[in-house]
Amino acid sequence: MDYLTEGIALGVDLVIFAVCVKQYYRNKNAMAMIQGAPYLAINKDLKEIVDTHPEKKLSYVSIRGTVKPLGKPIISSNNPNVSGVVQLLRIKEHVIQRSTTGFWSDSERIVQEVHNVMPFALTSKGVQVEVADPLAADVLDMDVISDVFNPTVPSVMDHIWGFFAGIRQRGVQSTEKMLREGTTITGIGELVYSQDANILKLQPPSNGAPFYLTNMQVTSLIKKLNNSKRNYKFLCILFGTIGIVLGGFIIRKYWQYKDRILEEHRRKQQLDESRRRRRRQMRDQNLPDNQICVVCKSNPIEIILLPCGHVCLCEDCSIDISSNCPVCRAPIEKKSVAYVA
Ligand SMILES: [Zn+2]
Ligand SMILES: [Zn+2]
Repeated sequence: MDYLTEGIALGVDLVIFAVCVKQYYRNKNAMAMIQGAPYLAINKDLKEIVDTHPEKKLSYVSIRGTVKPLGKPIISSNNPNVSGVVQLLRIKEHVIQRSTTGFWSDSERIVQEVHNVMPFALTSKGVQVEVADPLAADVLDMDVISDVFNPTVPSVMDHIWGFFAGIRQRGVQSTEKMLREGTTITGIGELVYSQDANILKLQPPSNGAPFYLTNMQVTSLIKKLNNSKRNYKFLCILFGTIGIVLGGFIIRKYWQYKDRILEEHRRKQQLDESRRRRRRQMRDQNLPDNQICVVCKSNPIEIILLPCGHVCLCEDCSIDISSNCPVCRAPIEKKSVAYVA
């Protein structure tokens, strides 16, 4: 009666299934929201449009404009000719690690990750919309400025150490990404107009809708989300089916177990019955009183009760009586077959 393997497999399957379902709905909702988000051109009418809305706010819109730094832009660390408004510097260590199963496999670890951000706006036709909190974006597309892998040349000592420690250095990867000045991007989020500062601002939506800063057009973004939605749907069906099959296995195993128990019980009963019948046929009908079972007063005594040692029951009655001796009330610890001469 062991459901451990199937149980673990079903548990893992259900977790993956739940994640896929969640991702599927995330993509589906994001798609529906983006499709429902009006596209507004950045021009001099934009302020007026936002101003006429309640709370001077449009909860979800998409705009497209050119990235313009508000101040001195960040200069790339690897290419002095490149400037931008968001910079990501990441150092990743690549190692070969021995797993618990004894195999060596590639793995990587982020050693350091730094984001540099400066205020910037999306501009078009001389009008600008400030972008708040770009790092909070669900999608923030950046250009790769540099991506260098420096392999480690191990010494003999490193090899020996690596063998015992179960970890070997492969090298270090340094990546620099930037949201460059002058790139045209689509921003999808909440658009607010702050009258005191006289600025338009695109910020992460307060209703939990996804915030996008992407170089894709809205249509491409929807297409991408749709692809991802389709992939998750496929995974949902796959893991759902696996879950049903595993569940079926467990149920079948349980039924088989139950059937077997019932069958054993039935066979035992049959056996008992036939033994009882056989005993009845073999029994002598005219017995003296001292050789008759004290309980049923009809069958011969056949069982000795221990430790008191009273030979007082027939085999049939001894099945029903197992706590105290009917003669002396002593607790019964053991029963044996008695041969009465
Ligand atoms: Zn009896
Ligand atoms: Zn007794």
